[in-house]
Amino acid sequence: MPRKLFVDQDACICCNLCADTVPDVFRMNDEGVAEVFDPLGASEDLIQEAIDACPVACIHWKD
Ligand code: SF4
Repeated sequence: MPRKLFVDQDACICCNLCADTVPDVFRMNDEGVAEVFDPLGASEDLIQEAIDACPVACIHWKD
């Protein structure tokens, strides 16, 4: 069972970093805010790197 993933869109500063580094998982929506569109698009390790790199730490695993 894959872990669930979400972006706290109120905190996102729209820097594009997650969508640039893991484009198969994250994308910028019509408002220019990051969203998860395919949590299975990359390995958990790669997703964790994007989580760790987010400048405002607004990407989270949902347990
Ligand atoms: S890295 Fe963080 S702040 Fe930047 S777009 Fe992604 S979720 Fe938003």
